[in-house]
Amino acid sequence: MQPDPAKPFSYEKFPTFGLVAYFSMEIAIQPAMPTYSGGLGVLAGDTLRSAADMGIPLVAFSLAHRKGYFQQHLDGVGAQTEEVQPWNPADFCTEEAARVTVSIEDRVVVVRAWRYDLQGRSGHVVPIYLLDTDLEENSGWDRGLTDHLYGGDTNYRLQQEIVLGMAGARMASALGLDVNVYHMNEGHAALLTLTLLERQVGGGPLGSVDDVDVERVRTKCVFTTHTPVPAGHDRFSNEQSIRILGAERTARLEKLGCFHEGLLNMTLLALRFSRYANGVAMLHGKVSREMFPQFAIDSITNGVHAPTWMGEPIQQMLDTHLPAWRRDHLYLRNAIEIPEQDILRAHARAKETLLSEVASRTGLVLNPNVLTLGFARRAATYKRASLLLTQPERLLEIANKAGGLQILYAGKAHPQDTPGKALIHQVIEAAGKLSNDMLRIVYLENYAWDLGALLTAGVDVWINTPRRPYEASGTSGMKAAMNAVPSLSILDGWWVEGCIEGVTGWAIEDGPDDAAEAESLYLKLENSVVPLYLDAREKWAQLMRTTLAFNGSYFNTNRMVKQYTRNAYYPVKLLERAQVEEPIYAG
Ligand SMILES: *Cc1c(COP(=O)(O)O)cnc(C)c1O
Repeated sequence: MQPDPAKPFSYEKFPTFGLVAYFSMEIAIQPAMPTYSGGLGVLAGDTLRSAADMGIPLVAFSLAHRKGYFQQHLDGVGAQTEEVQPWNPADFCTEEAARVTVSIEDRVVVVRAWRYDLQGRSGHVVPIYLLDTDLEENSGWDRGLTDHLYGGDTNYRLQQEIVLGMAGARMASALGLDVNVYHMNEGHAALLTLTLLERQVGGGPLGSVDDVDVERVRTKCVFTTHTPVPAGHDRFSNEQSIRILGAERTARLEKLGCFHEGLLNMTLLALRFSRYANGVAMLHGKVSREMFPQFAIDSITNGVHAPTWMGEPIQQMLDTHLPAWRRDHLYLRNAIEIPEQDILRAHARAKETLLSEVASRTGLVLNPNVLTLGFARRAATYKRASLLLTQPERLLEIANKAGGLQILYAGKAHPQDTPGKALIHQVIEAAGKLSNDMLRIVYLENYAWDLGALLTAGVDVWINTPRRPYEASGTSGMKAAMNAVPSLSILDGWWVEGCIEGVTGWAIEDGPDDAAEAESLYLKLENSVVPLYLDAREKWAQLMRTTLAFNGSYFNTNRMVKQYTRNAYYPVKLLERAQVEEPIYAG
């Protein structure tokens, strides 16, 4: 069977493999829809954008999050306050007629779905279904279950996870989708396995479940974990599980080994019911295998959707020199031939766009010729936003030597993360004290998609200082690489694989404590970054070019989705069994 290029992709071409249903608590669909909070949602969105570009038969499920995550406000002293971001799904999506129900505590909750058609570059559509409980049939409490992303307490969270996993799997059937592979993006979606198990025993009581039933469910499920430390895993008490999910289901999950230290552990549940599981970077796979030695956990390193995160000037430059990059991102490797001057010119334009956004947001006019560092991410304490500010005199010295230094910060703290909020306050306070004619430190409000894109494209060096091994992958440095912007980072997450010293950026050496790692950060700035930026424009441009060529060609979601396709969705083993020789993805 040869693909007919004149015909749009259709699922029938791949009858053996059928459809993948991708479940994620958050998906960054487009900047105007507040359906995501950070890296997990951006990764989910980028995954779907690549799947659409590559013609993968895939649909996705998430929640509507009618009140969004939150809009961040920072006052003069750096205190964060939050505001809801209400939005109307009807402005962006089509309502499906189908309705499904799930039982939560002792109530029956009705769920509907809003469809968003995500279209790829050749017209292939990946439908995204946003589940919504805001229906007249439901009580006031239940109507709010799909309002707040990561809001409320663990009771609210478990009820949302029932909607995502259990109502989601039912909705797929109600929509007539013949799903072959269920992909759980993080443990929030793990309860879908319970719906599949109940379906496996004809909807009957779970007391009759046997090993064969579990195995049948396992053949349909794959799981991606994103959490590198035990405390990060989604867990619920036995009491909550009995009260919210029900006694019979709880007893069955306990019997099947989904409890750890007396808590229902969503990672364990997902692992128990998946035929394939992976971490999101090489190191994270290793860390996950150490945490869960009884399971085979592979690694598929994250990526970013190149056309989404590359600034316009770089895209235009690539279209001129390397038009094939759009259909096959591996050709980005050939960026190695682009003249240095073109790289510098494209980046200068991106920097100008960023600095004019900074000016319009803050009134502060920054200098486009001054070395500019970027640090933007969730204000979680493990990311150590203030590491760069631990030796103020040294930073001032570096600024003087460099003929000026500009540092752009941004990031939200989760509303309940008091230490994270304190960190923002600390950075803003230090920024106020330290800033002078030579050193400018700015904390930008309301970090989200648009600002993230401008920052990763427009700064000169991207900084990342997580405490190892807390950063499962990290993706903002990949966005920077797509824009030929090198990173200066701790060797954690993706950077273990992405860092070639002096070629794609620089490593901050591992140390016994924060002070030692800060010391390494300063040394790299003093001895590697500043001299190269000041004295060797051509060498700097070459480093930007190798950053784009080496890391842009690899750390993209087209490569990542190919790996999911080959290793998770349709592994060679299954291909051989089906004796099918066609390529497994189009485009
Ligand atoms: C890319 C992105 C993230 C993830 O960045 P990390 O490097 O994983 O911290 C978070 N938030 C936004 C808005 C992003 O665009």
